[in-house]
Amino acid sequence: MAYTIVVKIGTSSLTQPDTGHLALSTLATLVETLTRLRREGHRVVLVSSGAVGVGRDRLGLTERPRAIALKQAVAAVGQGRLIRVYDDLFTSLQQPIAQVLLTRGDLVQRGGYVNAYNTFQQLLKLGVIPIVNENDTVAVDELRFGDNDTLSALVASLVEADWLFLLTDVDRLYSADPRFFPDAQPIHLVKHIGQLQEFQVQVGNSRSSWGTGGMVTKIEAARIATGSGVRTAIADGKRPENVEKILGGEAIGTQFEPQSRPVNSRRHWIANVLVPAGKLYLDPGAVRAIREGGKSLLAAGVTRVEGEFHPHDAVRLCDGGDREIARGLVNYSSAEMEKIRGSRSEQIPEILGYAGAETVVHRDNLVISIN
Ligand code: GLU
Repeated sequence: MAYTIVVKIGTSSLTQPDTGHLALSTLATLVETLTRLRREGHRVVLVSSGAVGVGRDRLGLTERPRAIALKQAVAAVGQGRLIRVYDDLFTSLQQPIAQVLLTRGDLVQRGGYVNAYNTFQQLLKLGVIPIVNENDTVAVDELRFGDNDTLSALVASLVEADWLFLLTDVDRLYSADPRFFPDAQPIHLVKHIGQLQEFQVQVGNSRSSWGTGGMVTKIEAARIATGSGVRTAIADGKRPENVEKILGGEAIGTQFEPQSRPVNSRRHWIANVLVPAGKLYLDPGAVRAIREGGKSLLAAGVTRVEGEFHPHDAVRLCDGGDREIARGLVNYSSAEMEKIRGSRSEQIPEILGYAGAETVVHRDNLVISIN
């Protein structure tokens, strides 16, 4: 069976910890593995970090750059170098590659999202392995993916992948960081993300815990990917050949089972690509109507409005306990919402002085959140 496979590898796996130079043998094994998978007929996408790390090494900087402009400059140096190395290695195996640099801003416009989808389809049809990274040089804070774990999950969902492999500096997920807690329990299979609570997984809340991207972002990536129907595995970045073994059925790393009912592409885009600009708090009746009845949100069910947003922005819908129950595209601005919250739909024209949409969030633009 031919799969669509997304493999994400982090800077810590691609570079040597002591010198910061490229880990050439790991890179070579990765390239050989992905090329073999291509030859077997699979469609392969690589999401590779390393632009900042390689740029830093190239420029002889001893510290990781912190200032944004410097980081963006260093990434510009490193990205070219990184792709050059990949192209040399893949070319020696006659495998064509492509560089795809994305920012969240490219995908938040529905047109941009569909365009990126078409480009990936075309590249995969041509037998090319696209190598994706965030376009660090131009990405601005609010429109960044921020980490390549999230980016890889969004790409996996965009290309409708069967598998997402997150290759990192631990061999699998543990109940706590195994470097500090020797009795941390390994986790082999996660049937649904909620199960992580049962396993009492302590991921910490800092980005830097558990390697550069951190386990927090890996689990978030697994949540996004499995929610879009993509089976996800966390495995050792120093052994890229394990990707083939996992595909062959070996129980290596941690695997997350996909949700049986993947959301459609538009809903996935609303829930995971768009950055919510505000929050609407709902009364219990509205929460029930949305969760259980699959209904649209009406102004009458909104008790409180938070944030500044415009019509068609994404917003979070929360219950009284501040728990997110859904996300959706709102039909009114935050200023309008303040005026109409709690009112019946037929009162809206009178309150605003003009007729607006009947619903605050139409059910077609609403996605229930997975908690
Ligand atoms: N885009 C960054 C880079 O190439 C990596 C982000 C991450 O490590 O998640 O250096």
